[in-house]
Amino acid sequence: MSKTNSVKTERQEMYKERNTQLLIGKFLSGELNKLEPSYDNKKGYTYPVVEEIVGDASQVNEFLNRLVETGILKKEIFDKVICCPNCNSPNISIHYCCPHCKSFDIVKSSLIEHVSCGYIDVEENFRQGRKLVCPRCRKELTKPDIDHRKAGMWCRCNTCNKNFDIPVTSHFCRQCQTTFLFEDAIYQNVYSYSLTEEARQEASVKLVILEPIRKFLEQEFEVEIPGFLKGKSGANHMFDIVAFSRSDSEKVMVMDITTSSDIITEQPVIAMFAKIYDVAPDKACLIAIPKINENGKKMAALYKIELVEAEEPTKIVKILETRCLKRQEKSKKD
Ligand SMILES: [Zn+2]
Ligand SMILES: [Zn+2]
Ligand SMILES: [Zn+2]
Repeated sequence: MSKTNSVKTERQEMYKERNTQLLIGKFLSGELNKLEPSYDNKKGYTYPVVEEIVGDASQVNEFLNRLVETGILKKEIFDKVICCPNCNSPNISIHYCCPHCKSFDIVKSSLIEHVSCGYIDVEENFRQGRKLVCPRCRKELTKPDIDHRKAGMWCRCNTCNKNFDIPVTSHFCRQCQTTFLFEDAIYQNVYSYSLTEEARQEASVKLVILEPIRKFLEQEFEVEIPGFLKGKSGANHMFDIVAFSRSDSEKVMVMDITTSSDIITEQPVIAMFAKIYDVAPDKACLIAIPKINENGKKMAALYKIELVEAEEPTKIVKILETRCLKRQEKSKKD
């Protein structure tokens, strides 16, 4: 199987998970446009919406990664986060330190140049109350960028009293009070997520398809979407639709839906056969949108899976109605 095909199969499996459906539902309803993380000093970045769905905060990343790998979500870098190499806390402050003695007890100031006399000094030496006065020529400076301008940064270390212009950066963990350098820091990407166009289409098609079929089937059946049936092996199998006849309680029909932007392969037929072989329903129906390849058709016939091909999702119910009528007429003749 090609790579794109296997990703697609995995995506179809992903759609069947309740958690995936809940999250996609939030995108489709407009409740979510972009899934962005929210920040908390203790926990760092989290995705509360996803936590609520998954129920377990430790499973959130794994769940989001699978959604990205199967092409349901796409991720974009949102922020970078520094974590402590000792305790993993994201509650980190930045220390700007003296390059000579590494102390972070430094005073930051700016250099000012008096344009007319060319004198340069730190801002404090110009300051007289609220005014700036040149210590050399005693003129008052009133017009920023005209009679005086900033001429760079100047720092002084309170520990060793040396001056410097560029401090060195280190990190301080507020949780365990470890000081560490960038080279030891855990430096991670934090992402925002949005629904891919492909998944948006596939998922809305499913919604568009399932609801009309449910309405149609409910005239005669108890319908479960998705439905679960236990097989002879003891395993539980999921179908997009399981319908139990109201008139004949023995009768069980299962339906799966497969959609694609081009011709569908035999893969969903094989997948469905594996399930119906175990479950043995009275009837199995595979809805293929828009159409399935020849091999798929042959296999469906061999496995007694009724195929419904429809170019347009809206036509499925019409096709189902016609087939039911034909069957009724046939049973009348018999
Ligand atoms: Zn720490
Ligand atoms: Zn120093
Ligand atoms: Zn001056």
